[in-house]
Amino acid sequence: MRKIWDIHGGIHPPENKTQSLQDNIRAAGIPAQLIVPLSQHIGAPAAPIVNVGDRVLKGQMIGEAKGFVSAPVHAPSSGTVAAIEPRVIPHPSGMSAPCVVINCDGKDEWISHQGISDYRSLDKNTLVDTIRNAGIAGMGGAGFPSSVKLSGGKDKPIETLILNGTECEPYITADDILMQERAAEIIAGAEILRHIVEPNETLIGVEDNKPEALAAMRAAAEGTGIEVVSFPTKYPSGGEKQLIQILTGMEVPSGGLPADIGIVCQNIGSARAIYRAVCHGEPLISRVTTVTGEACSTPRNYDVLIGTPVQYLLDLSHFDASRCIRLIMGGPMMGYTLQDTAVPIVKTSNCVLAPTVEELPPPPPAQACIRCGMCAEACPVSLLPQQMYWFSRAQEHDKLEEHNLADCIECGACSYVCPSNIPLVQYYRASKAEIRQAQQDKIKAERSKERFEARQARIEREAAEKEAKRKARLEAAKAKQQSATKDGSKDDIIQAAIARSKAKKSGGADNPPQDPAQAAIARAQAARSGDAVSETAEEKTARLEKQLASTEKRLAAAQQKLQLAIDNNDDNVEAFRSGVEKTEGKLQALHKELDAHRASQAPAPAESVSDDPAAAAIARAQAKRAGGAETESPDAARERLTTQIASTEKRLDAAQQKYADAQAQGDANAAAFATAVEKTQAKLDKLRAELAALPAAEPEPAAEVSNADDPAAQAIARALAARNANAELSEADKARNAVSSLEKRIAKTQQKLDQAQADGDDNAAILSDTLAKLQGKLDEARQALDALSQEEN
Ligand code: SF4
Ligand code: SF4
Repeated sequence: MRKIWDIHGGIHPPENKTQSLQDNIRAAGIPAQLIVPLSQHIGAPAAPIVNVGDRVLKGQMIGEAKGFVSAPVHAPSSGTVAAIEPRVIPHPSGMSAPCVVINCDGKDEWISHQGISDYRSLDKNTLVDTIRNAGIAGMGGAGFPSSVKLSGGKDKPIETLILNGTECEPYITADDILMQERAAEIIAGAEILRHIVEPNETLIGVEDNKPEALAAMRAAAEGTGIEVVSFPTKYPSGGEKQLIQILTGMEVPSGGLPADIGIVCQNIGSARAIYRAVCHGEPLISRVTTVTGEACSTPRNYDVLIGTPVQYLLDLSHFDASRCIRLIMGGPMMGYTLQDTAVPIVKTSNCVLAPTVEELPPPPPAQACIRCGMCAEACPVSLLPQQMYWFSRAQEHDKLEEHNLADCIECGACSYVCPSNIPLVQYYRASKAEIRQAQQDKIKAERSKERFEARQARIEREAAEKEAKRKARLEAAKAKQQSATKDGSKDDIIQAAIARSKAKKSGGADNPPQDPAQAAIARAQAARSGDAVSETAEEKTARLEKQLASTEKRLAAAQQKLQLAIDNNDDNVEAFRSGVEKTEGKLQALHKELDAHRASQAPAPAESVSDDPAAAAIARAQAKRAGGAETESPDAARERLTTQIASTEKRLDAAQQKYADAQAQGDANAAAFATAVEKTQAKLDKLRAELAALPAAEPEPAAEVSNADDPAAQAIARALAARNANAELSEADKARNAVSSLEKRIAKTQQKLDQAQADGDDNAAILSDTLAKLQGKLDEARQALDALSQEEN
């Protein structure tokens, strides 16, 4: 005879088990609708793999396991998926969770399935996978996936396999009757488990208040080596840790698992389900559930399809709602009140209890704790319920954890014996939920912190890499600068640029510039320096008209952008305004030039010339071309030359400014600007020489020159002012200005490019090249600025 041990504490409440044992297990049948929750187990919920409208067959997987600690769910009968949506599930909080709702067709048509004829020939992992795919989870407790328990224990060999047939809670008889009627299947399941776990011993624990079950199990286990152990009835002997202690004398350490001491424990209902899965290929789609309590006139055990609404079972049991004090899912000790009879039976639903008020009267109001210590005497885990009660009320979670609240199995024995009727277990459940929430919040906060730190580290790393690159560019720029200084002075560089420009020009018509931008600059220079003599009058008219049209178009675009910038309160409003002004100036100048050109082509009436300064100028030009310069009086020539000199001086200033800017920014067009400076200077020298050659004139009071109406003069004035202002700046400030100027030019060029691309303009490619070059220069300018800033510091 096997030695058995006693557990600490425990109680003996009225059993009330006989009511539901008057009849055999009855098939509950097929309800019109099945509600199958995707989470009926501990771990990750299953993920649906069917869609609304799909026809499903009995046993077909409808939700697949997600993760190691998870279990799939299957259609308990054939029908059509009516919905996949949250429905109220069996839970103390009355919460809703995703469910697959099946409208049953009543055919109960099975999916093709087949059992394994000789499971002993299969390796253990294949068997564990079969159990996993059948969705088997603990049917006597919290619903821990059976395959997970069978996959563990690798560090310590499993010595003992225990099947739990204790069913210690009052009223519940589902396991009892299952052992009475399906003992052979339970033993067959135990054999499969033995094959997988290979324990030294296999024990089935049954309380001595189930004599028929004990007899049936012993008969079925005969000759198998499986020992069916009977022990005295006491609540809560059916707790996993309590049963292990009763059968082996070993204690699972606080916070540990049975596998830690070489034990695997399964419910007898789970063992039977494993047998059905392995030997018949049937997933877990039904279970035996007790429906009892005096509010049901026919209490009994039903073989129920998972997903069957509780109301359906109550109807079968002739439930009288008016007599029921409260509807309970589970037993009177550990069960919870059901708020809704539409909730479905799930894999862990062992009992639906419908007691009358006489059976389960509401507890009297709680009184103050009298420190009698009875709760501690009753606790099967040897906890200190009274202290935990105070800590729970004070929400001292640290202290509760120190007092091993986590080991509380929520059996309710302490509440049962408390003379002050304090609902102790309710306090513990609430505190456990709070601690769980706090732990989840902590994990969330830690994850957020980790993400934040990782982000910070990435930002710092990227900044360091950027800084390293910047330094490398800086070094390269310095090296380039030093190399340039070694190779010659700034003037030499300018001279070299001028020489290159001359050399390019000397190629003449036989060697035209290849770069369209260079060609355009050359044309402009030629036009400015009067080299456009080869252009016919018609060609000039056409060119000016074309330029006029193009400039009008650009002005419209620039005005549109300015308006947009003003509307958007853009930072670049001033830049756009400046662009508009410049374009307007250019347009005005083009109009003037075209008018003058047209006038020069028309025969002018002699009498009107003297009244129109423009016509007079044209006439003078025509006369000059026709050799009429001899007729010009010295005063007129002086006036003309003075005007021309002033204008040329301005142009020279502007050209010098452009050249200086180009030099500062390393512009590739610096050579062209240098040529322009050279030519303008030559022209100015010539004009001054002509003026000097004239006879001396009577002194005249100096007239103040206004350039208010002359955009070109205004531009020159601005450039001169900028140059003067620039001259007083430090090198670093100049570099900053250069960077700023380049940024503006890039912005403008980008706008032009956008416009050109939008218009399908041929110049888009040129603008794109220009943009790339400007960007390169901006990088260099920034490097130079960095270097100068560091020197300043
Ligand atoms: S049984 Fe109740 S009254 Fe007695 S010590 Fe425990 S909590 Fe207090
Ligand atoms: S509910 Fe917890 S504290 Fe109370 S007797 Fe059970 S295990 Fe002990």
